[in-house]
Amino acid sequence: MRNPNLFMVSAVLACCAGLASAGYTPDFDRGVDVGLAIQAAIESAASAGGLVPEVPGLAPERPVWVSMEKSDVGALDGALFKSAPIAQNKRLAVYEFKPADLGQLSDGMYRSFRRAPGYFAHDTLEAALQDLEAPPAVPARAYTIDQGPRLKGMLPLVKEETIVSAISSLSAYRNRYYRSATGVDSSKWLQQAWGKFAEGRPDISVAAFKHAAFPQESVILTMRGTAEPGKVIVIGGHLDSISGGGDNPAPGADDNASGVAVTNEVIRTLVESGYRPSKTIKFIAFAAEEVGLRGSGEVAAAFKKEGVAVEGMLNLDMTNYKGSALDIYFVADNTNADQNAFLGKLVDTYTAYTWSSIKCGYGCSDHASWTKNGYPASLPFESTFEQYDPFIHKPTDTLSQSGGNAAHAAKFARLAVAYAVELAK
Ligand SMILES: [Zn+2]
Repeated sequence: MRNPNLFMVSAVLACCAGLASAGYTPDFDRGVDVGLAIQAAIESAASAGGLVPEVPGLAPERPVWVSMEKSDVGALDGALFKSAPIAQNKRLAVYEFKPADLGQLSDGMYRSFRRAPGYFAHDTLEAALQDLEAPPAVPARAYTIDQGPRLKGMLPLVKEETIVSAISSLSAYRNRYYRSATGVDSSKWLQQAWGKFAEGRPDISVAAFKHAAFPQESVILTMRGTAEPGKVIVIGGHLDSISGGGDNPAPGADDNASGVAVTNEVIRTLVESGYRPSKTIKFIAFAAEEVGLRGSGEVAAAFKKEGVAVEGMLNLDMTNYKGSALDIYFVADNTNADQNAFLGKLVDTYTAYTWSSIKCGYGCSDHASWTKNGYPASLPFESTFEQYDPFIHKPTDTLSQSGGNAAHAAKFARLAVAYAVELAK
């Protein structure tokens, strides 16, 4: 699905840019008319018989630096590794990569280890070298559950049909690849969709987070806290999709339109109920997760650099394929144990769902970017790691694989609503 009226998109964005929070005031087009660039890409795609090229006029990407587990390297195509590691510790190694090879690296990691992506990619060697250091300690905090009366009215507002609608809109793009025209277009569409939540709500703003090395933007909706706005809760998941790298068809309905759709549903539910959080909640759709957690890596590092007090991060990545007996599986590695326990208690307190714990390995999704910056992060996942949606990273990752409904994803939306309200109080 492409927005037919790019001018209208720009107008909506211009309206919301003025509401952006300090520090993230967007420059949506950085002096470049992205609308024209997208239109040119679409026209050129049509004349090329449907192939979607990268956004034209982009400079070739500079090299990136990848950190990954040394034990993974032997299972991957040796041709990907042009030289010895630049640096390493006992467990991890840093390699220089051509960005054009990242899709192939992701494909190899997915085929060998089911991890997507399973590594970090950085614009600078300096940032990659930080991955070899231990992450900063997360300060202990108390978790309490006492918002029952409020949540009793809010949880029934979560609707499957709006989750289905958001998954359908996002998965209608040919792909949401981080360098493709439709990858850019899907981000602009989300900025417009989220901009509507800001109507009549001066405490809500929407901003694009631009990435220097690639055109797809991360999207941030901020719901400013009424009492302690400096304390921040982050809820979100990745916007991009991939299928073997490049510009192949990649609807990414489960991976990860489902996570963005759940994020959207949490926003919608909070807005519909008229809820105003005491602390600030930032809802984020991350660009470029599938090629080394690049979007979330930059966003989390920017938050850390600016000293943003993130009290908790909830990552939503793959929520709508029920491949296992239980309802929700919390990833126990590279996440925060105390916050995971809190989430389990939220499930027990507010739902009848069943849950358990799993592991997903190094750099398996965007929570890892927040963990390594010293923030408490968690990933509630759709199944065991062995039984997740077998159609992801394929042209067949469509809503029909989940029965055309959002029954499973809605569980994650209810959990995330409870998480938001209990943490942002
Ligand atoms: Zn994913």
